[in-house]
Amino acid sequence: MGGRFLSIGECMVELSQAGGGLLRKGFAGDTFNTAWYARACLPATWSVDYLTGLGDDVVSEEMIAFMAGAGVGTSAIRRIAGRTPGLYMIHLKNGERSFSYWRDTSAARALAADADHLRRAIEAVDVVYFSGITLAILPVADLETLLSELRRAKASGKLVAFDPNIRPRLWSGRETMLATISDGARAANLVMPSFDDEATHFGDVSVAATMNRYHGLGVEKIVVKNGEHGATVSFGDEPRLVPAVEAKVVDTTSAGDSFNGAFLARYLVTGDAVEAAGFGAAVAARVIGEHGALIAYEKLVE
Ligand code: AMP
Repeated sequence: MGGRFLSIGECMVELSQAGGGLLRKGFAGDTFNTAWYARACLPATWSVDYLTGLGDDVVSEEMIAFMAGAGVGTSAIRRIAGRTPGLYMIHLKNGERSFSYWRDTSAARALAADADHLRRAIEAVDVVYFSGITLAILPVADLETLLSELRRAKASGKLVAFDPNIRPRLWSGRETMLATISDGARAANLVMPSFDDEATHFGDVSVAATMNRYHGLGVEKIVVKNGEHGATVSFGDEPRLVPAVEAKVVDTTSAGDSFNGAFLARYLVTGDAVEAAGFGAAVAARVIGEHGALIAYEKLVE
């Protein structure tokens, strides 16, 4: 049986070092990366769409063509005349990566400005995915619009999946960040946090503490990712630790995003969260063995 999957957030232009002072242009962003891996891992009976805001410029057109080329539907993307996509540059110094961002005025910040558009897009699908980054980039009024549509989707029985993906520099302050992440979790029925982030920002002392906190917010299904220590799945039964798959680490970009996409793809087809976590771990291990956020489908199945 098939279905319709929608991921909501910001995809940016990525500039990475190509040697000799040259830059290579790509496209990436946490929720888009997850859509990419969900598309790669779901059968053709499922559609995968991306909802963001883009402009009417050449780079927006290129990004849309890139998404469509990967099999990700783009008809739910809002086009905003005069705006442009956000952009980030990856710097490499002595093997260490660092990032510069230009995203404060990106078109994606207006992704939830049209409440009717958002409602129609969410009503049309079975599964909705979003992250803490999606929430962080929105103006306050639009944030409320998005959260209320997500609550509506949850109440109507859709699967609403959320990765807190806590990035302090996107938020105006710590209290707002923690309160809004918690509101995001309340609007979801599946939460997929990374333990490192949760320990750093919420002060959780253990994976169990993270699980208990999100269960306490009314979330039924939780997958806590914990790097090479594996992922703990709590879906109503006893929590189960699913080991990571040993990996030759080249670049950890997108480890969590690829885990989420692969986990969701497998869970939607089999309904078995433990098996899906094993599959997510295998895909993430493959992804961190290569450079870049988006690994081609052919390389994943090798
Ligand atoms: P994280 O968000 O860092 O917890 O990572 C997400 C997922 O990627 C984990 O649940 C693992 O499956 C995988 N992963 C991350 N780091 C490693 C690693 N060093 N070795 C193997 N798997 C990893």
